[in-house]
Amino acid sequence: MAASALPVGMLSPHVTRSPTPLSRLSVLGVELVRRELQTLVQQGMGWQDCEVDNHGADAGRWPAALVRPAALVSAWLTEARQKTTVTCHWSRSISQLNPLTSASGERIWQAVDQHGDVVSQSPVVVIASALGSLELLNSSSPSLDHDVLPLRPVKGQMSLSALAGSPLAARPQRNQGVYVPCYEDAGLSPRWPVRIWAMGSTYERGQDNRTVTDEAHLRNRHSLEQLNHRAAQQLESDRVNGRLLGWSEVRCASLDRLPLVGALPDPQAWARCWTPGRRRPPPIRDVPRLGGLYTVSALGSRGLSLSTLCARTLARQLHGETDDLDSGLVDALDPARFMWRQARRRPSAGV
Ligand SMILES: Cc1cc2nc3c(=O)[nH]c(=O)nc-3n(C[C@H](O)[C@H](O)[C@H](O)COP(=O)(O)OP(=O)(O)OC[C@H]3O[C@@H](n4cnc5c(N)ncnc54)[C@H](O)[C@@H]3O)c2cc1C
Repeated sequence: MAASALPVGMLSPHVTRSPTPLSRLSVLGVELVRRELQTLVQQGMGWQDCEVDNHGADAGRWPAALVRPAALVSAWLTEARQKTTVTCHWSRSISQLNPLTSASGERIWQAVDQHGDVVSQSPVVVIASALGSLELLNSSSPSLDHDVLPLRPVKGQMSLSALAGSPLAARPQRNQGVYVPCYEDAGLSPRWPVRIWAMGSTYERGQDNRTVTDEAHLRNRHSLEQLNHRAAQQLESDRVNGRLLGWSEVRCASLDRLPLVGALPDPQAWARCWTPGRRRPPPIRDVPRLGGLYTVSALGSRGLSLSTLCARTLARQLHGETDDLDSGLVDALDPARFMWRQARRRPSAGV
């Protein structure tokens, strides 16, 4: 886990005045994750039901939940192990995916690690390695480059500290960032105190380092000042007394800030089949795909809210089941969309 290793994050709908793909996805996504948490994880051992006060343009109080994603991932693994066989290869980096042809003529993908050892092979591979997805896919299929899959790093830092007395607000507050006045979770220990307050997170576009900085703490203090003056004072006093803790990681965001979910496009086949000079490209669903290669990535700053929905959408596609998202949302998540849009913008130039 990288970005998903955060000590506490928030599930809450992305509220907009009129619906956007992201706001619609987040409403559906939050509901699904909440159900998973209620079924699989005990409150206080990885999540906490709550509401959030929105102070932004769309002010109001919304249902929310605080969650430590590792607890949910661990519960999912336990559940999967009860139902099927799961083999985990922890701490092995995949550096290459080689396309092979099986004896029956089927294409299979072979995953090779940094030492050149084969880790596994399968006719179906789902790449869910956030920013690492681009490098891996590019090394396996060079035409899957930054233009086809425009993924960007966005560093985020959270400031947190042990909460000794009463929380300084009744519930989380959100505007430029989220203030969590109190989160208690037995599973936070030993890395973090069992009871914390937290403010996060910075949004540093283009930054891909994971260093916790004082400058980011100060930015969080500034954002917290807009939400709760006493909490901002507490952050500052913990900072100068050396009690303030930080957690920093890199989000993976796409150019249009929506996740990538589905079969990966085959740019070379697309360049062959789409005749330059045609007025419009064919529908996005007719874009040729790299058989067997799929992705769920670019979850951006909403990964906790969107992960279950995205995974379920892909699972339905893999099993040939009808999507429960409408076709507009499925197309909005399609990993082929950037390549397809380029063709639509420049109908005679090819890709
Ligand atoms: C500070 C911060 C605060 C956030 N707060 C929230 C929040 O409140 N609410 C919310 O919804 N979201 C939040 N997010 C976003 C959320 O954490 C992410 O969207 C989500 O965790 C992304 O999950 P992921 O599995 O796609 O990527 P990650 O969790 O980043 O996992 C990617 C994994 O791929 C592995 N990997 C990469 N390359 C390879 C390779 N070649 N071979 C093998 N493995 C590889 C990495 O080691 C890593 O384990 C926050 C993010 C940050 C940084």
